[in-house]
Amino acid sequence: MLASACPGWICYAEKTHAEMLPFISTTKSPQQVMGTLVKEWMGAKWGRRPDQIYHVTVMPCYDKKLEASRQDFYNEMYATRDVDCVITTGELELLMREKQWDLSMPVPGEAEAAPARGDGDEIELPELIVHPGTSSGSYLQSLIALLLADARELELAVRTVRGADYEEYTLADRATGAVVFKGAKCYGFRNLQNVVRKVGREAGVQIGRGAAGRMAALRGRGRGRKGDAGDVEKGYDYVEVMACPGGCVNGGGQLRPQAVQPQTDAEGYQRDWAVGGVKVDGDGVPPGSDARWGTREWTRKVEEAYWHAPPTPPPSPGHEDDRVRAPDREQHVTQNAERLAAEILVDLCRPQTPAMSEMRWNATMDAEAEERRRRLFRTQYKAVESEVVGLAVKW
Ligand code: SF4
Repeated sequence: MLASACPGWICYAEKTHAEMLPFISTTKSPQQVMGTLVKEWMGAKWGRRPDQIYHVTVMPCYDKKLEASRQDFYNEMYATRDVDCVITTGELELLMREKQWDLSMPVPGEAEAAPARGDGDEIELPELIVHPGTSSGSYLQSLIALLLADARELELAVRTVRGADYEEYTLADRATGAVVFKGAKCYGFRNLQNVVRKVGREAGVQIGRGAAGRMAALRGRGRGRKGDAGDVEKGYDYVEVMACPGGCVNGGGQLRPQAVQPQTDAEGYQRDWAVGGVKVDGDGVPPGSDARWGTREWTRKVEEAYWHAPPTPPPSPGHEDDRVRAPDREQHVTQNAERLAAEILVDLCRPQTPAMSEMRWNATMDAEAEERRRRLFRTQYKAVESEVVGLAVKW
C-alpha cells in the first residue's frame, strides 16, 4: 500500500503511473478527512448545514488547493466543498504581515466558550497530540506503533537506502527472525521513481503501461516471500510517499528564509534589485534567486523547529500547564483521541454492531455502517490521459 496523503504524488501517479493507482490507499488525505469532520460531524453538532460553514485549512503546498478542488470532495446536495479555502503557511504569513497582526497578542474573543451544541453541552474538541515519527504525518510510524502494540515480540530494524529521504523499516519476529512487516519512507521525486520501479517489479506490473499495467497488477505474481526468514525478497507492505524532498517541511507553500537581499547580480555588479527595476517577490528577492525555500539548510532549520520548542503541534488551548510530555499524559491524551474517534464513527456511520463499548476507530462494523464509512472517508483515483495527441501536434 502506498500513502495517499500527498497530492503531489497523487497527481504524478494519475498522470504518469496509472499502474500504481491500485496500490494507493483509498483513505482520504488528512485535509479531506478534516473536511468531512468539520462539515459533517462538527456541523451537525453545531446545528449547521455543510453550506453554512466556511472551512479554511492552512497547508504546506499549493497542491493541497488542487486536492480540495477535486470533484470527489464536492457536496452536490449542498453545493459546497469539504474544504472551501486552502491557504499556504507562506500566504498566511503574508496575510498577517499585511494586516499587521501580532501573534503574541490575544485574539479577540478567544476566552469565550466554544459554540454549545443542541443539548447545551460544550462540544469536546480533539486535543492536538505531540507525535513521534516524521514531520510529514507519521503514517508509517503509526502503523509500526500499532503492530508493535499488538505483538511486542517483534523487533524493529531501520535501514537507510538513500539518505534520510529513503529509509526502510522492518519488523521481524524475535524468535524466528521472519519478517512480518516491511515499510519504507520515501520522499522526493527521485526516490519516488525508484520506489515505483521497485513496487512494479515486486507486483509484476509493467511500469508506464497504464490500464494494461493495472490489469497485470490485479493478476500480479504476488510479492516477495512473505514470512520467509530473511527479508531480501520481501516486498513493501506500506510506503509513506511524499513528493517533496525532505517532506512537507519543504513544501512549495512553506515560509521562506528571512530575506537576504542579494548584494550582487549574476554578473557580479552590486545592485538593489527593487530600485534597479527587477521584479521582486514579497521578501525583496528576485524570483529564481537562491534565497528561497528548498535549500537543504533551510529545510533542516524548519525540521528542527518542527520538533523543538515550542512543541509542534502545540498543546491544545486550556492545557498550557501540561506541556511536560509525561508518558501518562501522552497515554491519557491518546486514549481520549481513540475514544473520540470511536464516538465520531458512531455519530457519522450509525453502526448497529459492534456495541459502543467495543467500538474502536478500526472496528469492523455492519455492512450499512461500513458503506457510510467508505463514502465519508475514502476516495478514488483516476488515470489522467494526456491531452496532447502526438499526431495532432503542429511542430
Ligand atoms: S510532500 Fe510536498 S507536495 Fe506532498 S503534501 Fe507535503 S508539501 Fe505537499
